[in-house]
Amino acid sequence: MEQPKAQVTMRFHGALNDFLSPAHRHQTFSHALRGRPSVKDLIESLGPPHPEVDVVRVDGAAVDFTHRVQPGACVEVYPPSMVEAPGVRVGPPLQDTPRFVLDVGLGRLVGFLRMLGFDALWRNDFADDTLARLSHDEDRILLSRDIGVLKRGEVLRGYFPRSTDPAEQLVEVVRRYGLTSRMHPFSRCVACNAALTSAEPSEVAGRVPERVAEQHSRFQQCPDCQRVYWAGTHHQRMQALVDRLRELEGAP
Ligand SMILES: [Zn+2]
Repeated sequence: MEQPKAQVTMRFHGALNDFLSPAHRHQTFSHALRGRPSVKDLIESLGPPHPEVDVVRVDGAAVDFTHRVQPGACVEVYPPSMVEAPGVRVGPPLQDTPRFVLDVGLGRLVGFLRMLGFDALWRNDFADDTLARLSHDEDRILLSRDIGVLKRGEVLRGYFPRSTDPAEQLVEVVRRYGLTSRMHPFSRCVACNAALTSAEPSEVAGRVPERVAEQHSRFQQCPDCQRVYWAGTHHQRMQALVDRLRELEGAP
């Protein structure tokens, strides 16, 4: 006679449901347990990458990712900002000054983050190994729409932007990491990520259009790529975006 299969009861909360198969979303379900996996491996086998998880409860008690799941266990999994004072939190605390590294497909989002003043690394040829290593070694939040790279063991901080639209991705990231109070708009080069320095009109003469040189007296320049910035029409559009993001503070 066949032995009855070992089962566990699973429930994922909030935005973690985005990663589940439709039959598992927003409900408690039974899952066949193979061996005695760590709770981290069990969660990832069902879809969600571990950096999106903040609290795991097994039979009501918060556990860390190394917890070995036993047959009959009831496992509840929460994203950030849902459980207050759980005791054990598997997600790392927010950084005072969040820093980022972005997957190759997020080249427009990186420009937005730099425009808000955040240190954000991006190259169009970053390999998965490089992304994971930079995230781990420099304690950077890895932003990627590749769930596989977010599941790498060395990645401790990470987020999967749900939207494919760069402006909506920015709103997601601003909300997820509470960035509105940490923004320093127009302090960083959007092209290369270096911190900008102020420049006298005489320093940028010949490097900006004549009309701009006549109309503006305040400039910034990038010490690395030499790009010059001033408060032009592009700046005004970006300022409108910054103002909209600030309105998100406290919005549901
Ligand atoms: Zn630059």
